[in-house]
Parts: sequence; C-alpha cells; structure tokens
Amino acid sequence: MKNFIYRFNNKIRPRTNDKNLLGGKGANLAEMGKLGLPVPPGFTISTEMCDFFYKNKKKIPKLLLSKIKKEIKIIEKLTKKKFGNLNNPLLLSVRSGARVSMPGMMDTILNLGLNDKTVKSLANTTGNTRFANDSYRRFIQMYSNVVLGVEAYLFEELIENYKHTKGVLQDTDLNADDWEDLIFDFKKLVKSKARKNFPQDIYEQLSEAISAVFLSWESKRAKTYKRLNQIPDHWGTAVNVQSMVFGNMGNDCATGVAFTRDPSTGENSFFGEYLINAQGEDVVAGTRNPQHITKKARIKSNAKELSMQEKMPQVYSELKKIFYKLEKYYRDMQDIEFTVEKGKLWMLQTRSGKRTAKAAVKISVDMVQEKLISKKEALLRIDPNTLDSLLHPTLDEKTERKIIAKGLPASPGAASGRVTFSSNEAERLKSLMQESILVRIETSPEDIHGMHAANGILTSRGGMTSHAAVVARGMGKPCVSGSSQVYIDYEKKIFKSDGVTVKEGDLITIDGGSGKVMLGKIPTVKPKLSEDFNKVMSWADKVRKLKVRTNSETPMDTKVAREFGAEGIGLCRTEHMFFNEERILYMRKMILSKTKEDRLDSLKRLLPHQQNDFFKIFKIMNGLPVTVRLLDPPLHEFLPKTTKEVSEVAKSFNLSEADINGRINELHEQNPMLGHRGCRLGISFPEIYEMQCEAIFEALVECKNKKIKLVIPEIMIPLVSTAAEIEILKDLVDKTAKAIQKKHSIKIKYYVGTMIELPRAALRANDIAKFADFFSFGTNDLTQTTFGISRDDSGKFLNDYVENKIFNRDPFIEIDVRGVGELIKIATERGRKQKKSLKLGICGEHGGDPASIEFCEKAKLNYVSCSPYRVPIARLAAAQAYLKKQK
Ligand code: PEP
Ligand code: MG
Repeated sequence: MKNFIYRFNNKIRPRTNDKNLLGGKGANLAEMGKLGLPVPPGFTISTEMCDFFYKNKKKIPKLLLSKIKKEIKIIEKLTKKKFGNLNNPLLLSVRSGARVSMPGMMDTILNLGLNDKTVKSLANTTGNTRFANDSYRRFIQMYSNVVLGVEAYLFEELIENYKHTKGVLQDTDLNADDWEDLIFDFKKLVKSKARKNFPQDIYEQLSEAISAVFLSWESKRAKTYKRLNQIPDHWGTAVNVQSMVFGNMGNDCATGVAFTRDPSTGENSFFGEYLINAQGEDVVAGTRNPQHITKKARIKSNAKELSMQEKMPQVYSELKKIFYKLEKYYRDMQDIEFTVEKGKLWMLQTRSGKRTAKAAVKISVDMVQEKLISKKEALLRIDPNTLDSLLHPTLDEKTERKIIAKGLPASPGAASGRVTFSSNEAERLKSLMQESILVRIETSPEDIHGMHAANGILTSRGGMTSHAAVVARGMGKPCVSGSSQVYIDYEKKIFKSDGVTVKEGDLITIDGGSGKVMLGKIPTVKPKLSEDFNKVMSWADKVRKLKVRTNSETPMDTKVAREFGAEGIGLCRTEHMFFNEERILYMRKMILSKTKEDRLDSLKRLLPHQQNDFFKIFKIMNGLPVTVRLLDPPLHEFLPKTTKEVSEVAKSFNLSEADINGRINELHEQNPMLGHRGCRLGISFPEIYEMQCEAIFEALVECKNKKIKLVIPEIMIPLVSTAAEIEILKDLVDKTAKAIQKKHSIKIKYYVGTMIELPRAALRANDIAKFADFFSFGTNDLTQTTFGISRDDSGKFLNDYVENKIFNRDPFIEIDVRGVGELIKIATERGRKQKKSLKLGICGEHGGDPASIEFCEKAKLNYVSCSPYRVPIARLAAAQAYLKKQK
C-alpha cells in the first residue's frame, strides 16, 4: 500500500513543505518539527487519502487503520502516555488541513480517547476532576455533532437549562459534579438523536473522526467557501492526528493566537491575543474576550487585564524567539496558534497569515527593505483583487456623525447599509440591490453566505482573531468586532447601544479601520494612497509588458483613471455619453426618428455635447491613446420605458403618446442584444457615425488650436462580423476626416479599428485586419455569443452551473480560456499574419480580472482596458502575469 501517513518531527523525511500532499497545517507542523520547535507529536494522513476515501465509497481502508495504530505507538513513546490507558491516558486531536487555510469551514475534534473509564484516569493523573469532566463533555459535544450529526445547540440548551436550575450564569460556575451530571444528560441526548450509544471504543472514535473530517471537505459550508475562493474539489483535505496539550488545566495554562506582524496595518510588531485557562476554540470562537500578548498593545488599547508579556514573561520571551525564527524561515508574516500547558509552551500551528490589502502592501515593501524577499516575490505576494479595498472611498471626516458604539477595528474600510440580523436576510437584500450591515453576536461558518452578501459586519463579541474578523479580512469586507456595548436582541430584531435602539432595516455606517459604529449613512471621500502602495505600483510598472488602459467616457472617470495610472483609454462607449437627462431625450428622439431629417435634427443637437466631452477627455489624456467606439446601443437600453418617458418624448416630437408607443412597437426586437445595434446601425444610418466622427475631429482641431498635446484617436467600429462592414465604415470615417482636415487645413493622425466580439469576426480576422489598424476584444459580447448565453439574463442560472461544476467561475467574470480564449488566439494569430503592426487589446469586463489578465499576457495582447478603479489591480496583475510566465 502506498504511504499515506507522514509523521511530524521526522527529521529525515523529505517533502515536509509539500502542502499539496500534507495540507497547509500538516506541512507547517512538520516544518516546525524540523526546525526543532516544541510541537506535540503526531502525524498527517495525506490529501491523497482523501481522494482514495471518496473513491473507496467513503470508507477508510483497514490497512490504513493498522498503520495508524503503529503511529500511535510512537506518539505513546514520545509522550509517555498511552491511548486508552487507565493510568495516564493519551488524548488526541483530529483536525482537517487543506492546501490553503479555510478557517472554520471543516471539522475538528479534540480530546479524542476519552470514555467513561479514561475520564476517571485523566482526573487521577491530573488531580483535577473538574478539568477531566469538562474535557469529556467537550469531546462528547464535538464528536456527536461532527460524527453523529447531533445539532450543537441541543447541548448548549442542556447547559443553559442546567445553569438556570442551579442559579448560576457562567460555565466557570459549574463544578466537577455538575459536568458529570451533564455528561449523563449528553449521552442520553446522543442515544435519542443518533439512535446509538456514545462510542466507548477509542479506535472506533478515531476512525469515525478521521472519516468525518474527510466528509467535511464536501460539507455545505466548505462547498460555499471553495466556490467563493475558487478552491478546486480535487485538492481534498489532509487529516492531522496529534497528541493533545491543554491550555485549560489551571492558571499556569493558556492558549493564544498571534501574528508576527499586525495583520490589519502591516506594522512590524507582534500582535496577538491569549486567554488564561482556556482551550484554543475559546479564542477563535469569540466566546470570551481575550487579552493582549504584548504590553505595548495593552497600553495602546487602554486594557486593564495584564498582557502575556507581563503575566507569563518567560513563556513570552520563548514565544518571541520562535516568532523571529519562523519569520526568518518562512520569509513571510506568520499566523500562529500556541498553548501553554503547566508553564510549557507548545506550538500548534503556523501558517502565512491572512492580511488586509494595506498590510499586504506594507509587509511586502518592508520585507524587501529588510532583504528578506526580492521585489519580484513582493509583487507576487499581493493579491491584486484585494487592492480594491484601498482604492475605494473612505468616510468623509468633515461630516457630522453620531457614534453609537466602538469595537475592534477588525477589517478596514467603511460601509453603510441597512441593519440585518440574519445571513439569509443579508442575501435577500443583496438580491434586491440593497446594501446591508450584518449584525451578529458572533459569526460562525454558517454565516459565510451572509458575510459575503453584506457590505459590512458588526459583532458584539469576539476579538481580532474571531471568526468574523478573520473571514472579513480574507474577503476584504469592513468589519467591527467585539463591540461589547452593542446589545443584540434577535427576537425583537433590534440592537441597543449608547441609549439608542436600532431596528432591523435602519441605516448604519461602520468604519472597520477605527472600529466605530455610526447612525445613518455617512458620505465618503477619495482615499489617499500610501507611499508603499505607489512603490509597489512602480515596481509592477517596471516588470509588466501589458499596457493598462481604462474604460471611460466621462471627464471625471478619466481623471480618476489617470491618477490610478491608466496609460490610455481602451474603450469610450459613446452611447453612455448620452445618459444624462437633457441628452437622453435627443438620443431617444434620434432612435425613434422615422425620417432622416428628424434624425439629423436630433444629431445636430447631440453633436456639441459630444464634441465638448471629447475635448475634455482628450485634454485630460494629454497625448495618450484614446479608443472611441462609435455608437452601439442595444435598443432596449435606450427606448423610453415609463409612461413619463413616453410622454416627454411625445411632447418634444409634437406627437401623441400613441404614436410614440406605435413607433416603440415597430422597433421592438425579440433579441435586442443580437439586433439592430453596433455597426448595423452605422450601415443603416450612416449620418449617426458621421456626426460622431465630426465631433471627434472637431474636438481635436480645438485641442490643436488651444495648443493641447494631441491624442491620436483610435476610432472603433463595434459588432463587426464581416470584412465588408468595416470596409464600408472605415471609408465613412476616412471621408469625414478628410472633409474636416480640408475645412481647417490641418492634418490629423488617427486610426480605425474594430471590436472583435462575434465568433465570426474572430474566425475571419485575416479579412477584417485588411481594413483595421487595431482589434479590441469585446469579451462581454464575445462570451455571450460564443456560449449563446445572454449577458442580461444569465444570473438566473449561472450559479447552478457553478454549483454543478459545469463552470468553475462565471465566464462573464473570468475569461473562458478554452472557448472564448481560443477564439482570441485565432483572431490574434490570423489578424497579425495579415497585418504585423495590428494592435491588440481587450476591453470587456475581463480586462480588470487578474486571472483573465494572465491569459491576455499569454495570448500576447498589447494592452488590457478596465474600469478606472481596477487600473491599479490590472497593473499589478499584469506584472504578476509576466513574472509567472517566466517561471
Ligand atoms: C464587450 O462586449 O465586451 C464590450 C466591451 O462592449 P459592451 O460591453 O459595451 O457591449
Ligand atoms: Mg460589446
């Protein structure tokens, strides 16, 4: 049988850093063992076993069990304890560990090996019956929930009722006898719900626990997390079996979570929390508010309870040495879990810590300066998608605000929205395009969909490493955690804080950077980008080969994009320039015109607006390339819809509403996306494109007269599928250009090109390239027409497609490399064969998606174009794409 078991602390074993095989947790435990750090003995059952398990009808092979028994013998030797022994029993933890960390998504079982007999011997050897009984009841709760499917709240209810009858409030008020009573009740509950006795056979416990961890890879919440984070199913999870150490055996015991640098700001100082006399789950679950690790952090936050540095100075200094050692070894910020058992420090986990975008940028720049990593590594370490949170507006400091609570600044960024107390409600509001803030006492992995749907998260309990804080940071969502002033009443759907009652549906604002909670919606202002951010961007610019342009049609967006480093405009959608109230009327009139005269009249009125906008945009772009796309309005987006709109158009035409409705009916199309749009409009009504070209060239003349650096416009014909279309329309552009040049006696340089957004255009790229100076891939339409899936309606079923693994990701977000990508490659090859100088870019939404940008680099395009706020993301993603190609 192939080897599926890998022991920690095995100094000669290779592949200790193989995360694919051992999972992140297993690999890091083995690495720490190799470094000589104090790791409780144990072993990893590899991810290959997970695959085998699913192929083997979800059963663990017998041979594996006998190998596990051998490994346990080794643990017994090292710990001088024995599994199931009645003198000094060995207890085990069984934990999941996938390639990447999936906080709280899969199952864990602690204190395994306890039964009615070993619990007594645990009490004897530790001299602490309360501790032994408490450990046993925790084990029954976890095991019965994870393995036997008994709902967790049923146990909590029994504890609450017991405390109520006894007249106490805290779990800590329960003594050894109380827990013994509860163990009796728990076992009765298990019998009635699971229809079997709680297992006393410790090997049955172990094999069932291992199976349950493998099964949790396919649990509902793990599936959601995998989908949201694009984690493929075939990775599987490893299982780590490890001897237990206890942080809850008395006041010389503790458990904690720490980061080697601040995961919110990136500041180079230790950051962490610990709890005396507690188990690890207590810190992460946020059921008790933990204390600081360092004195500095305690003083900064005005906390009274002593830090670990003050309370356990020796252990702290050992921990500090380990922090340095791990950072130096991994050359990255580490997220660490540890336990102190009777004054002895044990390392339970280390991994690269999740961090905010701000911290990622700072840590990368600092580590380059500290010569820990190279600039290339620094660039590859920052997830471009997370930069989004740095680019968006922050709260306007000048606005009056009513602060109703303060909590921990768990995940930066500001968010406003309607208060909601349930994840399902947050999801419902999102489907109605409404913003929400999810307010919970604490979150659990069941809330993952609500956290994703909400704009921000507020919890009344839990620290900086609570579930809410960790998951929100990972998602780049603003979060305020542990706001203890907030008193939540789920029943009444209200929360009270600082004398204010806030109801479900009320608007609040949270600032995850300062931890403040405010009433109402607070306006925002443009963020200031840090020096570190600019440094990273300048490194990216030196590396990348792809140019980054922006999709913009307003002077304001164009300005933002330039500030973010756009090197040109890749798509100016001219129909969007007519969206404002005054102009849309003429746009509608123009579309509804029956005669050429009527149309010319509307066009005449639109021309000065268009010319003026072009002038402003050209001025801002100051000589950089600008791709102007001639009109491409799918008719359904522009026809009047409401009776008010119909009556406005009727009035301005001097016609009746019935006449207008009649015209709307005439123009009605079954498939407007495949209808009279794009260049088809230019073929039917050349005067429209003539007006637009006139506006472009007149704006350039104005620039020239005002001595503004001239841009070279790239005039783009949309929705072309044949060479004849572009031949005719290029001729139209040339004629208009000639007339204006003659009128002003000046020479203007310009290019004419086309969008490739129909499969036929990609296939006939060689013909089309004869008449085009450039191609721009309109991958929104190209995806729509390649799959035959409507861009507007696909939301209804795309989730099912992702769920059923037909698509890994929505193809309108990440380019479908195998289909749409193939067409892009064909068009690139055929187009360049016809015309070597052909310039190639992409301007669909994919132009701002890092995975799609990686494809564009491989396909050898010249540039990507994306919305202004995604420009820095694309700059970094383009650098990463190039670096990855070199590997
Ligand atoms: C496209 O189709 O990809 C494109 C950029 O054009 P639009 O989204 O305006 O149809
Ligand atoms: Mg298009």
